[in-house]
Amino acid sequence: MKVTFLGTGTSTGVPVITCNCRVCTSDDPRDNRTRPSILLEWDDHVVLVDTSSDFRQQALRHNLHRLDAVVYTHHHADHIMGLDDIRLFNWRQRIVMPAYGSKETLDAVQRTFWYVFEDSLHDGAKPAMEMNPVNAPFELLGREVVPIPVFHGDMPIFGYRIGDFAYLTDVSRVPDRSFELLEGVDVAVLSALRATPHPTHQSVEQAADLARKIGAGRTYFTHMCHDILHAETDAELPEGIRLAYDGLVLDNLA
Ligand SMILES: [Zn+2]
Ligand SMILES: [Zn+2]
Ligand SMILES: [Zn+2]
Repeated sequence: MKVTFLGTGTSTGVPVITCNCRVCTSDDPRDNRTRPSILLEWDDHVVLVDTSSDFRQQALRHNLHRLDAVVYTHHHADHIMGLDDIRLFNWRQRIVMPAYGSKETLDAVQRTFWYVFEDSLHDGAKPAMEMNPVNAPFELLGREVVPIPVFHGDMPIFGYRIGDFAYLTDVSRVPDRSFELLEGVDVAVLSALRATPHPTHQSVEQAADLARKIGAGRTYFTHMCHDILHAETDAELPEGIRLAYDGLVLDNLA
């Protein structure tokens, strides 16, 4: 399996509108972070995790010509606002796009994009999505996808495990039972917002603690805000933990 980080920023993206801080004005491309999303590819299949606010730019940047499914972690705006651009894939591939996520997440996506799910004379102009609520491991295009329940502040959301790869974004706490689902993970992606604590996100230090507890061979941090200068923070991380950046590709994952 191949994993591409389409976006590694927090909800504002980096640079942040109205900000001239050293990260927002950095000329290191790794400090330029679009909204959080990853692309998963195996065999000839292409699966998108979250339709971020920057999905259009991400799809163009990566020359994305095909999409077979969308998997949602939760319904916050930074993770869903690119949904309308799914219609390009509906048109090109002549398919209704299957989407997966918890019932709560998919219900919230439907409320936000109400026009997509209402009959109208303009059906051809809208995205076509088929919502598939999941709350247990499910088969997707020949592989097993395991939802990993985690907390984002008080809100239960899903991370996902596929094979030995796990993606847990917007996490602030992992319940004990979910650690069992993460046993044997080789590559983990965890969100790490900034250096200081936050009510609904892990700090870099908390994310490093979680990484140790999960014990993956390699861990990458994502969902970072403009407090984090890539080169500086990356150099301070323990062995086996790295900051992800937009465009980073991990290939040959089990
Ligand atoms: Zn987020
Ligand atoms: Zn800034
Ligand atoms: Zn969120």
